[in-house]
Amino acid sequence: MVAIFAAVAKAPLHNRHDKSALLEQLEREGRARTTLSFYRYAKVANPTFLRDHLFSTWEPLGVRGRIYVSGEGINAQLSVPTEQLEHFRQSLEDIAWMQGLRLNIAIEGDDKSFLKLIIKVRDKIVADGLDDAGFDVTDCGKHVSASEFNALASQDDTVIVDMRNHYESEVGHFKGAILPAAETFRDEIREVEDLLQDRKEENIVLYCTGGIRCEKASAYLKHKGFPNVHQLEGGIIEYTRQVKAQGLDNRFQGVNFVFDERMAERVSDDVVAECHHCGTACDTMTNCANAACNVLMVQCPDCAESMKHTCSSACKDFIALPEDVQKAQRSGTRPQRRTLRQPTRARVARKG
Ligand SMILES: [Zn+2]
Ligand SMILES: [Zn+2]
Repeated sequence: MVAIFAAVAKAPLHNRHDKSALLEQLEREGRARTTLSFYRYAKVANPTFLRDHLFSTWEPLGVRGRIYVSGEGINAQLSVPTEQLEHFRQSLEDIAWMQGLRLNIAIEGDDKSFLKLIIKVRDKIVADGLDDAGFDVTDCGKHVSASEFNALASQDDTVIVDMRNHYESEVGHFKGAILPAAETFRDEIREVEDLLQDRKEENIVLYCTGGIRCEKASAYLKHKGFPNVHQLEGGIIEYTRQVKAQGLDNRFQGVNFVFDERMAERVSDDVVAECHHCGTACDTMTNCANAACNVLMVQCPDCAESMKHTCSSACKDFIALPEDVQKAQRSGTRPQRRTLRQPTRARVARKG
């Protein structure tokens, strides 16, 4: 293991290029890149030092992406030139508390998801609104694989809980899962604690997109006296991979909502949501075309066409105005809400 204290070089910590120059550079470069994500909760004594170390190690490898470090660990989404992948892995193994990390490989190819390397120091790696002093984040629930998840899911005394926001679970979820109404992770943890009050002794199985939210939520529930908390290892992304690789029964229906321009990855052919305007079966999640509004909504192709990809007649009229009028009216306003439709209470997904 290399002592990271010796390894900090004085590299510049920002790339000062504009976006088009960076895109051009990526295109010229033309080398295959691998997009991946990882996280780990751990007690980090000096996050600023860690940030500087990672930047000076990864910048020369051509790593690009968005990474958060904090006193509670690291959360990273990035792309690595594929020929540097082994060097990159080694740079993680060199740090004791990152050894044995699972890298979630999302895309292989000439991916252009990230334009530069940004590493930020934050209070938390995921905003959760919890006072951490009271419990140990690293004392989390039991990790289960896809096959273990399926085995638990077929038992009567198991309750499966979707730890994502309502607009993520709306378009895809596990059969029979509790789907909370919360719009933020912060609200979600409180809502789930309430929902499970009478089911404390059951097998509780949490899942989210890539596993990071369950890491925190499962530790919190254990701290609150829930004895049988499990979490889906690597989230829906890893579940889907294992189901395909091992030929397992797929219990996830619909699409997995992801936070990039792809918006969603289809996991099964089931369409579990409906158009927010006409009620047709549909799971296309999109943003209102009025940038000043930008709400997330499920909109079918017919409604998208008739409403010009906006959420309402007000937004449709607005985007028909001349650009300078729009600009004048927009100035100083901020989008009011995240989604077009928020449920008033948690739902339970169909079992079949
Ligand atoms: Zn419609
Ligand atoms: Zn709108």
